[in-house]
Amino acid sequence: MIFKSAKINAFRTWGLLLTMLGMGLMILGTAGIVFWGHAGKVIAAVGLVIGLVAMLGSLIIYFWAGMLSTSAVQVDCPECGKLTKMLGKTDRCMFCHTILTMDPNKANTMSPPVEPSTPPAAPSK
Ligand SMILES: [Zn+2]
Repeated sequence: MIFKSAKINAFRTWGLLLTMLGMGLMILGTAGIVFWGHAGKVIAAVGLVIGLVAMLGSLIIYFWAGMLSTSAVQVDCPECGKLTKMLGKTDRCMFCHTILTMDPNKANTMSPPVEPSTPPAAPSK
């Protein structure tokens, strides 16, 4: 992962980048007509098609991120105390970027692992 951010935030970043790229290509393609006249029409067409594909790709990424965020697990970050969402077993906190994990084997913290609440032991006779 290049960006030190939560997976949902990373998806949003890539979606935004693709949207910007698509819009930029469309604007550049249209500007090609202004600058190069007739020859620019080919550049404009190519730019518009690639721009449209990039915009569609970003739409899919946004949609995917939305679908993933509905299935994400909400946890209280032990570092900053804020409510964050986790994708998969390991993810970063959205706010302080601390790596959080559900897998006790990957945890390297000295604090005791968070145990799921167990029912009280049955009284022995
Ligand atoms: Zn946090």
